[in-house]
Amino acid sequence: MKVQGSCHCGQVTYEAEVDPDSAHICNCIDCQMLTGSAFRVSVHAPKATFRLLTGQPKVYVKTADSGARRRHSFCPNCGTPVNSSADTDDPTTYSLRVGCLKERAQLAPKKRNWCRSAMAWAQNVSTLPAKDTQ
Ligand SMILES: [Zn+2]
Ligand SMILES: [Zn+2]
Repeated sequence: MKVQGSCHCGQVTYEAEVDPDSAHICNCIDCQMLTGSAFRVSVHAPKATFRLLTGQPKVYVKTADSGARRRHSFCPNCGTPVNSSADTDDPTTYSLRVGCLKERAQLAPKKRNWCRSAMAWAQNVSTLPAKDTQ
């Protein structure tokens, strides 16, 4: 599926071809901290299909407890996460952040990873009082 991505301030824009079946939730602590939220939703795109249209993301190399390193790209102006990849100049895939994609509504996650560190309160929010504004 072709997707159009943008950071919140609009400096960084990109397009890619994603595999909708790869959309997933990550509950790991690193994702909780790097998003400032309960979990992250990502989808995979082959590197060859990823095209940066405008802007120049800044890169943060994250080292996991296991020692595994990943490159996290984000907008240097607004901080919006753009993607992550293996720590190499020629990764095979990018993990795109679904919340930044225009097609986000069609990219429902197909699985949940790192459930051991998941926030229990985030697993079912459908019973909370709901409204359309703050
Ligand atoms: Zn931005
Ligand atoms: Zn994660």
